[in-house]
Amino acid sequence: MSLTAAEIAENNARHATRMARKKAVIDAAIANATDEHGLLIVITGNGKGKSTSAFGTMARALGYGMKVGVCQFIKSRTDTGEEAFFGKLPNVEWHVLGDGFTWDTQNREQDIATAKRGWAVATRMLNDPSYQLVVLDELTYLLSYGYLDNDLVLDTLANRPDMQHVIATGRGATDALIELADTVSIIADEKHAYRDGVKAQPGIDF
Ligand code: ATP
Ligand code: MG
Repeated sequence: MSLTAAEIAENNARHATRMARKKAVIDAAIANATDEHGLLIVITGNGKGKSTSAFGTMARALGYGMKVGVCQFIKSRTDTGEEAFFGKLPNVEWHVLGDGFTWDTQNREQDIATAKRGWAVATRMLNDPSYQLVVLDELTYLLSYGYLDNDLVLDTLANRPDMQHVIATGRGATDALIELADTVSIIADEKHAYRDGVKAQPGIDF
């Protein structure tokens, strides 16, 4: 059934009132948000989209000419689309610091040594204010598997340069990391093509 002209006018007026009210609330919230400092953002959960979220934010930062450091822990592959694209940009420093998945290495001592070597690279960036954004891809596993001294990692993150942003990704973020973070998103695994037998594809999964 089509609406009369009067009903359309009434709907439009109601919509305008609702939007004016919403704008007032949003403007007040924006006016309140005056603080500015580097953020610790954690992207966790079992769904797809953690690393790609970090790389999306990285593209945004690079658009402003910011200097970005990337540490990829755990995984060892260097043939990813993200590295091929971002890795050769002048403002990007890209490090692949993994040895492969822990179920591949099957060697905890080796995993710990690798994690410590990787964390040394990250620490250098987290002590240097010239890095405006640092991406710590898959950091969560280094904490949840106990490969690194959790307190040391959290201290280093907490004491980084004031304006430096950090994005940490990976499943199962620890409570302490979530507590320290400014922004936390938990990506839910509603569906994944993998479970329908679709293999990982270049340009989408790596
Ligand atoms: P992406 O890098 O695509 O954003 P991610 O960082 O959220 O994924 P990881 O745990 O790092 O997820 O997994 C890396 C690889 O595993 C990617 O190829 C991704 O597509 C795939 N993947 C992510 N989530 C799932 C899932 N729930 N089931 C199966 N494979 C997944
Ligand atoms: Mg990932």
